[in-house]
Amino acid sequence: MSEPAADPASSALVLFSGGQDSTVCLGWALQRFSHVETVGFDYGQRHRVELECRRTIRAALAQPGTLGDGRDGRGALGPDHVLSLDALGLISETALTRETEIAMTEGGLPSTFVPGRNLIFLTFAAALAYRRGIRHVVLGVCETDYSGYPDCRDDTIKAMQVALNLGMETRIVLHTPLMWIDKAGTFALADTIGGQPFADLVIRESHSCYLGDRARLHPWGHGCGECPACRLRAEGFARYRSAIAKEVSP
Ligand code: ZN
Repeated sequence: MSEPAADPASSALVLFSGGQDSTVCLGWALQRFSHVETVGFDYGQRHRVELECRRTIRAALAQPGTLGDGRDGRGALGPDHVLSLDALGLISETALTRETEIAMTEGGLPSTFVPGRNLIFLTFAAALAYRRGIRHVVLGVCETDYSGYPDCRDDTIKAMQVALNLGMETRIVLHTPLMWIDKAGTFALADTIGGQPFADLVIRESHSCYLGDRARLHPWGHGCGECPACRLRAEGFARYRSAIAKEVSP
């Protein structure tokens, strides 16, 4: 493991899965913090494409002249950490980790639901941030595109911040830049952060599809186009494009 971050106050750790939301969060962090590290979790996801997308996105962001090159006030992209959470895969009887159909459960939650997943991720991320000397932890959870995940709620995250700081006797700050915006707003935020190059990177290289489909490229990105994740992303992109069209011709 490399040397801990020099200045905790200007360092951030981003929970980075390779999905659309966490990719935008990574750009957001590179705009605000001078040193940005990433953490990903490997828990036997049915499709490992997200973990491969992470590598592609990080490599693109570290190129000279992009968000993560550390010049012109932008943050420098630091090390990546991948933590193995095999136990999470073992206890999760869900479509994300097993070859079962994506469906809604009786409780109205998608069958991809892993109970308390973000609580586990945050606990590991905060422990890593502590060890790395990083104060800020960034994650792409959101209440707006409500899909019934109680561990994405604002109150849950705020309670976790209190619990982590009490339990570790530290002062870590949890940031959720996407909490109150929808998928259309996430596309717009990517544009605001890094213009068309970053928006294109998010569209082309971030991954959402539950079926792991990278063969088909749509205007909104790669995916099967049919699963709930693809539909959410496609609908968000359509709203984002129509909002731009209205701005251009009021
Ligand atoms: Zn899909």
